Amino acid sequence: MKNGFTTTILHSDLESPIEHFSVHKPMHTAVAFGYPDARDLAKVFKGELPGYAYGRQGNPTTTALEVKISKMEEGIATACFSTGMAAIAATFVALLRAGDHVVSSSFLFGNTNSLFGTFNTLGCEISFVDATDVANVARALRPNTRMVFVETIANPCTQVADLARIGELCASHGLLYVVDNTMTSPYLYQPKRDQAGLIINSLTKYIGGHGNALGGAVTDSGLFDWTRFSNIYDNYKNAKPALWGILQIRKKGLRDVGSTLAAEPAHRLAIGAETLALRMDKSSDNALQLARFLAGHPKVTKVYYPGLEDHPQHRLAKELFRTCGALMSMELADGIDCFDFLNRLKLVISSSHLGDNRTLAIPIAHTIYWEMGAERRAEMGIAESLIRLSIGIEDFDDLKADFAQALDQS
Ligand SMILES: *Cc1c(COP(=O)(O)O)cnc(C)c1O
Repeated sequence: MKNGFTTTILHSDLESPIEHFSVHKPMHTAVAFGYPDARDLAKVFKGELPGYAYGRQGNPTTTALEVKISKMEEGIATACFSTGMAAIAATFVALLRAGDHVVSSSFLFGNTNSLFGTFNTLGCEISFVDATDVANVARALRPNTRMVFVETIANPCTQVADLARIGELCASHGLLYVVDNTMTSPYLYQPKRDQAGLIINSLTKYIGGHGNALGGAVTDSGLFDWTRFSNIYDNYKNAKPALWGILQIRKKGLRDVGSTLAAEPAHRLAIGAETLALRMDKSSDNALQLARFLAGHPKVTKVYYPGLEDHPQHRLAKELFRTCGALMSMELADGIDCFDFLNRLKLVISSSHLGDNRTLAIPIAHTIYWEMGAERRAEMGIAESLIRLSIGIEDFDDLKADFAQALDQS
């Protein structure tokens, strides 16, 4: 019998013997691993024996987290990194070469957008398209396209990518389809269902959930045929073909770049992951109720949330995701200063970050999107007064009362 989502995470560590019968994987902080038989050390280096050699390439605590993430995404293997950005950067560094082309959604996490700008200067060309419609992705494909990259629900304006149809398009062209699942998490959506080859999660956000550890992960769904991918180095082709991609990501991203997830944050993230489903249900329920309340308020001119009937991809979001998530954005009526409004909120914290247990609010144009300038912000449809909200798991009545009093005074 296949266990449910939460049962699977909770009992994952106990499937292999753990020291002293502890109920979760202990923190292994050793950097080096000593072998009584030196031949075994050599075998570990060659990949002939499972094991650890040096902490940059992994440790048992991080492996236990990787196993959990593979189960959550129903993938065949996962590599964890020090942050979500490190996971994305490792995937790109490992799999692309100069002259390659990538099609990416233009509705991207700001730092991913910045990273892709760097790749453009390194000889890879990245085309940005409106990924809410598969036709835009299809039009951008070229003979040298190596991968298609999308996020599930975009931040801050919550556009939903045409995930299933983009998956079909990639499958029919034998193209690697990479989905950043951070905003939905594997509890709300499994990109493997829609034929993603690689799935990226920032563990810092919903999977960790408590705002106390950074981490990222890349999961191989097992669906992509790596023998058709021209950028695999010969020395990684000794492994089973299904593992070529993740092996190269590990070697380049962890061994060469060194963006390793240490045991302490891996432990915190694994503990956070145990309650992912409970937290996601509560925060998305809060978000839907709050979105409805804000949308009906005279001092709010616009609410971006896929769970609202007037959201342009509402039907698509309902088809794809278990709930519509816990991220939304709002615009205040003309004349209301967004800073004054934020300062009137008593519970809600003015802070960057998202996916925390606590509700966080941030004036996007003045912080995260400040560097890009007013012109590019206008192009992206980001109003100067836009406030992004990451809804937490507080008691809904308290949240509603806080927004109500802050709006009434505005
Ligand atoms: C936060 C985020 C990232 C980066 O994750 P970090 O752990 O902060 O490096 C990547 N993608 C999305 C969609 C994010 O929200």
